Amino acid sequence: MPKKSIADIDVNQKNVLLRADFNVPLDQGRVRDDTRIRAVLPTIEYLLSKGAKLILASHLGRPKGKSVSELKMDPVALKLSELLGKPVNKIGQIVGPQVLKAVSEMQSGDILLLENLRFEKGEESNDREFARQLSEPIDLFVNDAFGTAHRAHASTVGVAAYVPAVAGLLMEKEIEELSRCLENPRRPLTAILGGAKVSDKINVIRRFLELADQLLMGGGMANPFLAARGNSMGNSFYEKDLLETALSIISESEKSQCRLVLPDDLVVSKALKENNPSKVMVPEDIDGDWQAVDIGPQTVKKFSSYIASSAMIVWNGPLGVFEVPPFDQGTSQIAREIVKSDAYSVVGGGDLVAALDSLGLAGDIGFISTGGGATLEFWEGKELPGIKVLEDK
Ligand code: ADP
Ligand code: MG
Repeated sequence: MPKKSIADIDVNQKNVLLRADFNVPLDQGRVRDDTRIRAVLPTIEYLLSKGAKLILASHLGRPKGKSVSELKMDPVALKLSELLGKPVNKIGQIVGPQVLKAVSEMQSGDILLLENLRFEKGEESNDREFARQLSEPIDLFVNDAFGTAHRAHASTVGVAAYVPAVAGLLMEKEIEELSRCLENPRRPLTAILGGAKVSDKINVIRRFLELADQLLMGGGMANPFLAARGNSMGNSFYEKDLLETALSIISESEKSQCRLVLPDDLVVSKALKENNPSKVMVPEDIDGDWQAVDIGPQTVKKFSSYIASSAMIVWNGPLGVFEVPPFDQGTSQIAREIVKSDAYSVVGGGDLVAALDSLGLAGDIGFISTGGGATLEFWEGKELPGIKVLEDK
């Protein structure tokens, strides 16, 4: 069921609580990367243009229910004010009489930023009383924090029990874009999965095996599958207790319409050090101290031919240890093939997005999700609690 968004309701003169994801990296008290703040600007600007009084709230870091001075929201207020070109009034509280007073003094078009939500224990425990207090000064709750939508916290779920709740523009776009590959995808649909661990992503693997025409696997993710086929894999990273799971996924794939495509060759090295000597091996030959660190050139070629003939591509997880060049080559070559192809691409996963950013390729991808765990759970087919509580259209 599609969810209501701010575009579906009147916000003029209303006190709107906008739950945003301003969980940005900080460096010496300043925002180091403002990507997440910029992602919420369309929602903020829309609400201001429609005459709302805007109360903003987010978590920042992991203060675990107590006040931590380095995790106050002041750097976010500064950056936000810079980006919007207007004042952002930051308050040192989250709930209580001072917040109520500050809100009562607001005019339409004003912005008030609350203190870090996770300074309060009740946030992560979804405490009813804290959620009620959060809702006290507001008429409407808008959730734009897709990256936190898989968590049932007071500011993502609890508050919606007290006031009408709708999606912001970013949340709406995330739902729409991530659904594309789940409902009526353009075909052929190619799923690409990489990253470190299979255990994080078993349900996503299974879901994509149901949905996609082919599932290309690389990175550490491929290792247990290659091991399950009888390869020793030398010193490669993989979860040894997942061999059974890998075997059953292989046999499920044989019965499914989806082809499971594993690497034919791998770049191997003896240490994860920049420019450490490396060579290309077939999985059968990897033994001793050698560890797989990237997909090899034959694999890049094979993956590329699938990409070239795809109409839609979904991708999560890097295909090698991209943090340690040149083991970023596989990820970078596949990203370039995707950009070159006519396929519509949707990418999710914190590390992969960071990799594409550092390669300067993020701008050319069809859609980049701002969620990590939330994106994976969405793709698994789970109903995320922070989305569930929003009103249906
Ligand atoms: P994402 O955040 O995109 O979902 P993950 O968190 O699952 O991705 O995995 C990212 C990590 O996987 C990176 O730190 C990367 O170095 C690691 N990785 C990729 N390939 C390998 C490999 N062959 N061996 C060990 N680690 C790998
Ligand atoms: Mg990650």
